[in-house]
Amino acid sequence: MLRGERGDERTRGGEHDGASLSDTLERELDLLRQAGLYRTLRRVERRGGGGAEIRVDGQDAIDFSSNDYLGLATDPRIARALANAGAGTATGAAASRSIAGNHPLHEELERQLAELKGAEAALLFSSGFAANTGTIPVLAQREDVIYSDLLNHASIIDGCRLSRATTRTFPHCDLGALARMLTEDRDRYRRRWVVVEGVYSIDGDLFPLAALVQLAQEHHAWIYLDDAHGTGVIGPSGAGAAEHWGVTGNIDVTMATLGKALGTAGAFIAGSQMLRELLLNRTRSFIFTTGSPPGLAAGALAALRILREESWRRHRLGENVARLRAGLAALGHPLAPQCPGHIAPLVIGEADRTITIGRRLLEHGFLVGAVRPPSVPPGKSQLRITVSAAHTTEHIEGLADALGEVLEAS
Ligand code: PMP
Repeated sequence: MLRGERGDERTRGGEHDGASLSDTLERELDLLRQAGLYRTLRRVERRGGGGAEIRVDGQDAIDFSSNDYLGLATDPRIARALANAGAGTATGAAASRSIAGNHPLHEELERQLAELKGAEAALLFSSGFAANTGTIPVLAQREDVIYSDLLNHASIIDGCRLSRATTRTFPHCDLGALARMLTEDRDRYRRRWVVVEGVYSIDGDLFPLAALVQLAQEHHAWIYLDDAHGTGVIGPSGAGAAEHWGVTGNIDVTMATLGKALGTAGAFIAGSQMLRELLLNRTRSFIFTTGSPPGLAAGALAALRILREESWRRHRLGENVARLRAGLAALGHPLAPQCPGHIAPLVIGEADRTITIGRRLLEHGFLVGAVRPPSVPPGKSQLRITVSAAHTTEHIEGLADALGEVLEAS
């Protein structure tokens, strides 16, 4: 069972099992509890300090679990831009963008996002989840094939399912296996898409994109890149994975999010002008949903300005990553070289032990992600430590010390 799969305990074959809804829900919840996969929501308030200092269920902590890589999620300039635009006429879009909800701020943001990605055009979505699940089915249909990396995000997996295309999963970052599949399938499908992430959301490693560009060209396949975790972080100007690998202009379709390094919310698809035109005509998660608040677009525009003007944030992030890398190596858990390091995975194994370690770290004042199935395969539960430009040297060193203690004791 991987990423969003359901258990086999449900009645198959359609006969009614006679249970009430509350009994059914209770049974499902019990199954989750028994498997150590039961989740609750923590209450988190950001206390300022660039966003790294938080209160978790009333307890002060340093946040090493979020995707706020540049420390922009609490930036007052973004908050002001958002509020000032919203206070005028831009609070709610009032309609789908296809009807009456298309605001000049949406279009200006799309123009600047396309520029960031070196693309002709961009189209905004209310979330990365909506962008992937909406766009992939427009691009690939029943006669087509999608080659999808094993560790792709749930929203990509769902997008592939909705597309009804044949989806073939290849082992994580294994271009040899992908090449063999492309060769095997040479004349079998109408169109071929390869879907990968720039920086993997949980394992934190880079997909070898330059080599993929070459392979895809040789095999007449197109590339769909989810750059949720590369955008704003990697590449000389923070433009993301394509810039990092020197293949800007060679990626057919890029999806990127605004809720991570760019500190706000929403997502976009970047590519050709024709791609934008087709998507705004065909994508259900674009057409049948209210446009995102135009004020949010003003906030994202402020974030883009900060990204352009404050390169020190990426440098600070790099220094923090180097510090954490050294700390993890000293603990005997070195980061893989293919990880840029703002997402640092530390594989623990069993879900229960991972949760216990996470809880103990929080007792020491550090919130880290404890990732369990279905986000990772069973037995591969891991800590997901994320680094931000908002962290101080003391934060990083404090986490490394706490990790040393907790790992030894757990
Ligand atoms: N793709 C990837 C790789 C992600 O990590 C995420 C969010 N975790 C998404 C897509 C979805 O983005 P959003 O949070 O904007 O829905």
